[in-house]
Amino acid sequence: MRYLVLSDIHSNLEALEASVQRAERAGYDRVLCCGDVVGYGPDPAEVMDRLEGLQAACVRGNHDRVSCGLDEPTNFNTHARQAVYWTRSQLPAAYRERLAALPLGPMPIETAQLVHGSIADEDEYLVTDDDAAANLQIADPHVTFYGHTHEAIVFALLEDTLSISVPRYGSDGSASIPISGIKLLVNPGSVGQPRDGDWRASFLIWDSATGRLEFYRVPYALEVTQAKMRKAGLPEFLAYRLGLGR
Ligand code: ZN
Repeated sequence: MRYLVLSDIHSNLEALEASVQRAERAGYDRVLCCGDVVGYGPDPAEVMDRLEGLQAACVRGNHDRVSCGLDEPTNFNTHARQAVYWTRSQLPAAYRERLAALPLGPMPIETAQLVHGSIADEDEYLVTDDDAAANLQIADPHVTFYGHTHEAIVFALLEDTLSISVPRYGSDGSASIPISGIKLLVNPGSVGQPRDGDWRASFLIWDSATGRLEFYRVPYALEVTQAKMRKAGLPEFLAYRLGLGR
């Protein structure tokens, strides 16, 4: 089975469309999503509808939790908080209910599981070797897909050795990482707001039969998304940072 793994789409419809089109060319069977469907970007309802059309299996992210009103964005920075209130104001009640119904990870998928932040906590950022080691210790399935940091990376544990791989994209925007290691933590990067200095949408395809991870970067109509954000009155910084990939 070939799984298209998306994360942190953040209401960016142009980035989602470009990602799905590229994934269709590469071929996939099923769509998975590690949360943060909404927040930051200008098209929350449209992105939710598109994901539903793709029949994606999706866990809740922290932006989904606060944007539907299950929680308040008290720990969010000013720009993120403003975007949360804007998103709430745009989403009809039925959409906020759909967001509220998204399951909290971990969600088991074949020999993998989906979470948003870390295995134990959807708000926790999994960044350092120590974070990875602690999570790999409690990781039950073979592969844990996570998001939240908006950076593509693979942590692998083989016996007692932790290895770290970051995708090195070729001129076609793809990078392949063979799965080695007993347990893996895999972040596909962010579709809608990458933060590794590359503005292009980030995602991966996991082939569960061969154990290959194919990472992709795709350009999208960035100016269209930014123009929508400015027209909507979303914070200028959020539009600006999309172009930086930060
Ligand atoms: Zn996010």
